[in-house]
Amino acid sequence: MSQSIEAEQAVASTPQAAARGQEPFSGEENPFEAMMARFDRAAELLALDPGLYRVLRQPEKQIIVSVPIQRDSGEIEVFTGYRVLHNTSRGPAKGGIRFDPKVTLDEVKALAAWMTWKCAVVNIPFGGAKGAVVCDPATLSITEIERITRRYTAALIDVLGPDSDIPAPDLNTGERIMAWIMDTYSMHKRHAVTGVVTGKPIEMGGSLGRREATGRGCVISIKQAAQHLGFELKGARAAVQGFGNVGSVAAKLLAQEGAKVVAISDISGAYYNAEGIDVEDALRWVKDHRYLAGYPRAEAIGGEELLTLDVDILLPAAVANVITRKNARQIKAKVICEGANGPTTPAADRILEENGVFVIPDILANAGGVTVSYFEWVQDRAAYFWDEETVNQRLETMLCRAFRDVLSVSQRYGVNLRTAAYMLAIERVAAVHRLRGLYA
Ligand code: GLU
Repeated sequence: MSQSIEAEQAVASTPQAAARGQEPFSGEENPFEAMMARFDRAAELLALDPGLYRVLRQPEKQIIVSVPIQRDSGEIEVFTGYRVLHNTSRGPAKGGIRFDPKVTLDEVKALAAWMTWKCAVVNIPFGGAKGAVVCDPATLSITEIERITRRYTAALIDVLGPDSDIPAPDLNTGERIMAWIMDTYSMHKRHAVTGVVTGKPIEMGGSLGRREATGRGCVISIKQAAQHLGFELKGARAAVQGFGNVGSVAAKLLAQEGAKVVAISDISGAYYNAEGIDVEDALRWVKDHRYLAGYPRAEAIGGEELLTLDVDILLPAAVANVITRKNARQIKAKVICEGANGPTTPAADRILEENGVFVIPDILANAGGVTVSYFEWVQDRAAYFWDEETVNQRLETMLCRAFRDVLSVSQRYGVNLRTAAYMLAIERVAAVHRLRGLYA
């Protein structure tokens, strides 16, 4: 069963996701359109050269592969895999691989572009990529997941590499899957290549602090936001959607900062306690019961209700498109920290801005994961490993600098943090394109 796989992000139940069914995204919820809407606005404000605009709009490479495997029953099944490399001007492509029954090529294209912008915001020398296999891990055995992983890696053997394209965990994938990617790649190359993938187990070239990095990064940016807005984290009320690797770590660290985590949720339900949920206790419950379902020391509430609770901080750390034009007006949080990729639609952005909600955009808020992935890659290449304190300290330094950079663009141009983050990222990528010129 797939429950032993630790996923980078938790899958939360949302009416939007349920309504989406097997249909591709449309309208407000098309992630590629959502990414392009933000890109276009930032490019316009930057007065980006039209030629460069055309280059940056398109992914460099889009790969679709067949992933045939033998099921445990003996039957052969063929899954579809994607890998999209959006831009590699600043360095090798970098980005996670997700296993999701509803993932589309459009979504992978958007996620790959988000990785380009995310790496540029934190100023690490990577481009952006994303991969996916259309499959439902909940219906697959661990050995079937292993076969899918290995066959997908083999299909992409000429694309992946520590100098070309470096995967990492994402939705429904984790350390164990990264270990199989490293092994498959290394068997093809006839020697151990640790730097081909990040988010690996520590024993085989993973980095201390990588597992917690995305959630830790969220809290670092929330602290920066609180300082900027002039409120104390101590005593602040927070709601966290998604209790996977990102949400649960962020919830734990928020509680350590003295914040009151009043609501948490996962795919099985949402839970509320006005006095604050004991996050460690909830984590123990999930360890024993797999899901939050039935958690006794909080009241069960609706998943949608969690988003509109009267809190200071809202942390969507599950899937895309949970904050839309339908619920954005009801949101009462002062600060939204986007732990997930693309949780807010462009239509919701406008409403939140009108209402003065301070949104820390995904490409800044959840960049802690890829930042420590960068540290992992550096350590693998140097074959010299850092202690956890060094990792966390360097993460904090890089994220605080990125936050300050984004804030300063936002103040200079009078735009919100999301537009500022895109402007900063696009300008950093564009600057390299100008210097490198066009190879013909
Ligand atoms: N999947 C994560 C993200 O969306 C991590 C990517 C990485 O570490 O390369 O940022």
